[in-house]
Amino acid sequence: MSGDVTLFVNASQVVTCNGPPRARRGGEMREARVLDGAAVAIEGDRIAAVGSAGELERQFPRAACVDCARGVLTPGLVDSHTHAIFGRPRADEHEMRAAGLGYMEIAARGGGIHASVRDLRARGEDELVALARGRLMRLASYGTTTVEVKSGYGLSVEDELKMLRAIARLAAELPMRIVPTWLGAHEIPKEARASAATRAAHLRLLTEEMLPRVATGKLAAFADVFCEPGVFTVPETRAILTASRAHGLELKLHADELEPSGGAELAAELGAVSADHLAAISPAGIAALAHAGTVATLLPGTMLFLGKGTRPPARALIDGGAAVALATDFNPGTSPTVNLPLILTLGVSELRMSAAEAIVAATVNGAAALALADRTGQIAPGFSADLALFEIEDFRELPYWYGDRRCRGTWARGKPCHPLNLGLS
Ligand SMILES: [Zn+2]
Repeated sequence: MSGDVTLFVNASQVVTCNGPPRARRGGEMREARVLDGAAVAIEGDRIAAVGSAGELERQFPRAACVDCARGVLTPGLVDSHTHAIFGRPRADEHEMRAAGLGYMEIAARGGGIHASVRDLRARGEDELVALARGRLMRLASYGTTTVEVKSGYGLSVEDELKMLRAIARLAAELPMRIVPTWLGAHEIPKEARASAATRAAHLRLLTEEMLPRVATGKLAAFADVFCEPGVFTVPETRAILTASRAHGLELKLHADELEPSGGAELAAELGAVSADHLAAISPAGIAALAHAGTVATLLPGTMLFLGKGTRPPARALIDGGAAVALATDFNPGTSPTVNLPLILTLGVSELRMSAAEAIVAATVNGAAALALADRTGQIAPGFSADLALFEIEDFRELPYWYGDRRCRGTWARGKPCHPLNLGLS
């Protein structure tokens, strides 16, 4: 053995989620594989061993120790759906919605996604990096060590590339693992909405100009499309994603958020890595995801924040045999939260998941939703040393203390990931 070894000792529980390097489906999601009183050894950027403290101290006599102070150690949480690069917050719209204004009225007053597009286009890359840096460090402070970040507020070639370059700079600079997704097809920009001809020209711009530059620059691992009536149709989504796959990108979809339009079925048919939102998924869509490799990523914070009564059908998906992930959908319009444990609370309270299912959904299944299940999302030898320590005694308290920040430290690839690592060395 070589390299620096650190032992994490004196945890009341270690939630390992260990098992095969793939998503947990259906009844498998109940198995969070919790060990009482275990210790974990990491060596460099990898997990070396899980066992009793005595065993590991004999195996690694010169190891440094982290005292977990009877807290619970989990795999670093994986937030597999965010729009973390944006300019100004949209608190004004929150109040407008509460006063009863609909989406179209808010858009007419200069709000909605086009407000974020206008705002982002006016900002430079350095400014976007600076704004996102603080927001991502806050996100890490709740226990997240892997985060997906989408483009999608630029919508023009240069503004989308600016967003993706900002994500790349943050990925190089920050300790957490950042996965970039190209969401050039987040919305039809204002300049392309005049006619069917301008819309068709914009679709060509996406696949023939923007996508090749994203792929050549290696600026994204995934392509994503907002597939929803009034945004991109199922045939348009199919065309954009098929072109994206030909350029070497893996696929994601914003699917069936507000109306059941066949987005989940399309995701399953194309073999997308994930289909996200699904608050309005049809029974046929549930059946399609139950039998596909596609992870169903649910974002209950969005529906809560929008004040909508609809909830994604987590129970029907899990009981049907699908793999479910939970994520924040962190964005300035519809889900301005960086608190992934709060989303686990919603998973239990609103989606009727068990605490174990919710934790699996934000670790191993979040990793699977990013095609990373072979390296993160579980505490097992050989996996990346991505850990989160929470000031709780029982793992079920993670979704229980809702809204609280119980995280006392995170480590990504073996390195401390956020500044709350106080007094723990
Ligand atoms: Zn989204």
